[in-house]
Amino acid sequence: YFITFEGLDGSGKTTQLRRLAQSLTDRGYHVVTLRQPGSTALGDRIRGVLLDSRSEASVGQIAPAAELALMFADRAQAIAEIILPALAAGSIVLCDRYTDSSEAYQGGGRQLGSERILALHRAVCDDLQPDLTLLLLPDLEASLARARRRNQRHVQTTGSDENRFEREDEIFYGRIHTAYEQIAAREPQRVVAITDNASIPEIEERIHRIVTARLAS
Ligand code: C5P
Ligand code: MG
Repeated sequence: YFITFEGLDGSGKTTQLRRLAQSLTDRGYHVVTLRQPGSTALGDRIRGVLLDSRSEASVGQIAPAAELALMFADRAQAIAEIILPALAAGSIVLCDRYTDSSEAYQGGGRQLGSERILALHRAVCDDLQPDLTLLLLPDLEASLARARRRNQRHVQTTGSDENRFEREDEIFYGRIHTAYEQIAAREPQRVVAITDNASIPEIEERIHRIVTARLAS
């Protein structure tokens, strides 16, 4: 069974994924977790290139289409090395971001468009779809407020003001948010969106119920 977690930066995906992994393991399931980009040797290198470029450390500006291709190279490797073998062995796979992230960030945020991402997904990922996607998507204002607070902490701890959360970032986030909403509307069977501002334990409990029901059916 293949489950992915999606949402904007700071939406709590990683926390919820860890908690779900623990609870499934406690119930006797074999669980494999990974994140994208990353998790294979190749993927960790790609992640380094992608995230370094944001701090303007190494490769300079990455063109949107190049960013997209790198994301899919990472994904293809993770599918071959981790996801398919784990599914074949009967494990539950929990993935922190998957193709919906490309559709939201590169398709929506960088405006490459959904069609291109879906075509690449078919070509590069053999159209491997999650059985269930948990989308953590509070309304845009709440997501922006969280991102601003995060950024404020970053500025305080590093003492730099280079990383200010600009109006530009708000527009970028807005496009990502809209793209996620469109994915959820298009695929209501696969994608379960959690859109209110519930607490971490409340969301954990809801996810637990959703996953338990899906695994039983
Ligand atoms: O999931 P995580 O927060 O670790 O992702 C790392 C960074 O990569 C985030 O800042 C996210 O915005 C970005 N990302 C992206 N496009 C993707 C996946 C992640 O821009 N397809
Ligand atoms: Mg995370």
